[in-house]
Amino acid sequence: MVRVRFAPSPTGNLHIGNARTAVLNYLCARSKGGVFILRIEDTDLERSRAPYQTSIENDLKWLGLEWDEGPYRQTDRFDLYRSYAQGLLEAGWAYKCFCSKEELERERAEAVKRGVPPGYGGRCRDLSSAVIAGYEREGRPFVLRFRSPGTRISFLDAIHGPMEFPPGHVEDFIIVREDQSPSYNLAASVDDLEMNITHVIRGSDHLSNTPKQIMLFHAFRKDPPTYAHHGLVTGPDRRPLSKRHGATTITEFAEMGIVNRALFNYLGTMGRKVDKEFRTAGEMVAGFSLDSLAPSDSLFDMEKLLWLNKEHLKAMDLPALLALLSLPDDYGEKVRLLRENAQTLVQLKGLLGIFEHVEVEEEGVAFLSEVEGIDRLLPYLREGVVKESLDMEQAVHDSKEMTGLDRKSSFLSLRIALTGRKSGPPLKEVFRLMSKDSILKRIEWLEMRLQERRII
Ligand code: GLU
Repeated sequence: MVRVRFAPSPTGNLHIGNARTAVLNYLCARSKGGVFILRIEDTDLERSRAPYQTSIENDLKWLGLEWDEGPYRQTDRFDLYRSYAQGLLEAGWAYKCFCSKEELERERAEAVKRGVPPGYGGRCRDLSSAVIAGYEREGRPFVLRFRSPGTRISFLDAIHGPMEFPPGHVEDFIIVREDQSPSYNLAASVDDLEMNITHVIRGSDHLSNTPKQIMLFHAFRKDPPTYAHHGLVTGPDRRPLSKRHGATTITEFAEMGIVNRALFNYLGTMGRKVDKEFRTAGEMVAGFSLDSLAPSDSLFDMEKLLWLNKEHLKAMDLPALLALLSLPDDYGEKVRLLRENAQTLVQLKGLLGIFEHVEVEEEGVAFLSEVEGIDRLLPYLREGVVKESLDMEQAVHDSKEMTGLDRKSSFLSLRIALTGRKSGPPLKEVFRLMSKDSILKRIEWLEMRLQERRII
């Protein structure tokens, strides 16, 4: 049975890169009839915050990623990690290191000066029990370090293929910190073992942790899970996507009017060889396999996401879309028409202003203020609306006559005067759904604005 986990650290809101990891884990579980586990890695007591856990959980639910087990919280499991650490200590796989921060810093600086890779030199590796007892009597603080066997570590990554780390690559790393809290590598390995995780799917920024975790598994006399490291999400400069590139958190994309199914679709297909980009959740699950993922990083493509969003807005059941917009059923026809022209929910709400607000976009006012004959076009439209005699074909023709403009510009004048916008769905259809009252108010508003500008 496939068992995967998503293991965020609650040190911030859910970032798009981590959300992608969550989506890939979820798809792996669902496509194999497996179990998707949520594990909160909050062992970094200084940076972890409970409200971030809540917001991460909410964002996962919003994306439709319901977990089957958890959330397990690592701070609730310290006793477990301690007992594993104790076991390693007793078996000789770990030792107490009493080096102070200053000593380590000095060692590091000297290594840099000599041009050798900075790493722990192993000063406390073979302390005699008498020395250890002495330090302990003095009450010297200590950490626990893993006694790295210095062997070559190789494994088959499900995305990268064969991976190899040379002998001596892994230094004696810390497994229990000075405050007795477990390090990430210890807690993650113990949990992956205890939770019977079969596949660890995570970003390639964790590749350097993998040999350490494999060594821990060997020390526990267990087989490690299968590791699969996917590429990271980057900005156009190929650096990991961050604030300076624009939106990065799930909340920010939701606020921009991206719908959950489009983001799920995008995150689940980016960086994969797929024959079709637009997919429903069911199609995403059915077509998933880890080996379709590229090991390289993927450029975040906002245009692609907006295109997918538009496609999902068009394909969505109308009642679902109305619910997202918090609109009653009688808006159905309007929304059906407008959604053809909107890339986001925010744009769609903006277009609804055609029916709700009298204002005309500033750009539109500027355009009309250059149109000769607008002083005739507006009264003409008013009369047609009042008498309910306005025929759109005729109006297109008359507006060309009145404004003396070419077909495109005269039509644009008509569109702006009626809808308040330079673009939108077919005018004839919008007009059919507009109330007489809203058009008359808009014409009145326009006349006032143009008078202020001394146009009419
Ligand atoms: N807590 C780690 C992170 O947020 C997850 C590491 C892992 O998946 O092993 O990056």
